[in-house]
Amino acid sequence: MLSDPIVALATPPGRAALAVIRLSGQGAFDVARRVISDFQTHPPRLARLASFLGADRRPIDRGLYTVFPGPASYTGDDLVELSCHGGLQVPARLVAALHAAGARPAAPGEFTRRAVLNGKLDLVQAEAVGDLIDATAPAQAHAALRQLEGGLSRRLAALRESLVQVQALLSYDIDFPEEDDGPVSPRQIAGQIESVAGQIRQLVAAAPSAERLREGALVVFAGRPNAGKSSLFNALLGSARTLVTDIPGTTRDAVEAHTDFLGWPVRLADTAGLWEAPAEIDRLGVEVSRRYLAAADLVLLCVEAGRDPGADEAAIVAERPTLVARTKSDLKAPPPGALGVSVITGEGLGELRRTAAERIFGDQINLADLEPALTRERHRTALLRAQDALAEAIPQIGAQGDSVLAAHQVREATTALDELLGAVDIEEVLDRVFSSFCVGK
Ligand code: GDP
Repeated sequence: MLSDPIVALATPPGRAALAVIRLSGQGAFDVARRVISDFQTHPPRLARLASFLGADRRPIDRGLYTVFPGPASYTGDDLVELSCHGGLQVPARLVAALHAAGARPAAPGEFTRRAVLNGKLDLVQAEAVGDLIDATAPAQAHAALRQLEGGLSRRLAALRESLVQVQALLSYDIDFPEEDDGPVSPRQIAGQIESVAGQIRQLVAAAPSAERLREGALVVFAGRPNAGKSSLFNALLGSARTLVTDIPGTTRDAVEAHTDFLGWPVRLADTAGLWEAPAEIDRLGVEVSRRYLAAADLVLLCVEAGRDPGADEAAIVAERPTLVARTKSDLKAPPPGALGVSVITGEGLGELRRTAAERIFGDQINLADLEPALTRERHRTALLRAQDALAEAIPQIGAQGDSVLAAHQVREATTALDELLGAVDIEEVLDRVFSSFCVGK
């Protein structure tokens, strides 16, 4: 059912001072009344202290609840938030009591999905909710919040509005073909389509850097054996060391870890390397390294400070965006101007982080000026579809063209934008977007 009452723990389970449980849907207040003693819906949006009771009418906890009558709620439906003590017992028992009282366990992202279906958020904003929760670096959180506040949505909605106008003008042309001069000349109509297409082109062009910010830039370590790669990898992670995970499915595993350089998200990858003797490493390991290098946003080439780079190392620098770190600078000073680093003294680590962040995120480094941008492949695919449709439409404008065909293509482009914003109810799109959400959001 579209709006049956759902319930979920909105905070992570486990030892904590507080936990928050959300209950939403038609009939949510009836469910709440069975569990919350002396439940009141007025005044709304005011926290009240109450006893929370189990199905056996025994108290589970005393805590606060807040009532948000729809449509002025996160989901747009009636919603109740209960805050109780954290830990393993109280929240689980309270959720169970709310089940017993008639609410169904929410699916991942179901609260936000309802917010979209009720027009409280568009799909692009809903994705930003997920991004804000998943953000591991401050810059990611900043960009996600901007998207949630509607920066990208407004831009896309303006493009859509422009296309709807074009549709209106084209339908005038179709309805009154004998009129030589419609309200607007064909040249102006074509101009308006071209302007939308141009803005779409700009958004698509800026997409890779915004996607990189959302996903974290891939920084791949390269260098000869014993160059100090693993040591530097660990030093750069510092206390984030526990985040290191082995990437399965390779005989010589790559190790990847998420961290941030001065607030900018990076994924560090240390691979088996290209330089090891063939006897020591199977081909798959080399293949893994090659793939990582090819995908790298920045290669961090480690060359010992006391040694001149060889032709193999120079080749990497020529091929990929590379930052050369002259390692073990505590043993021998690096050449002037080079970036010397030492994991023993910590020399150069800060400069390495700063230089790498500037190299990778240079065009975005001023966060306050970040333009709204496409952050997912889903966005890019939709806009490319719109762009193709508009390219087909333009030659059909004017006396030589077919207005009906032009109108069809412009409608196609509008639909692509509608799907992107979630303005049309497309189950499949919603399923894909919300499948990665956490329960309770
Ligand atoms: P990898 O094979 O490139 O991953 O190199 P490792 O990180 O395993 O380092 C090789 C050797 O160099 C180890 O014995 C490290 O302890 C040593 N090493 C790495 N970084 C430094 C450094 O900054 N200073 C000094 N003195 N030794 C280092």
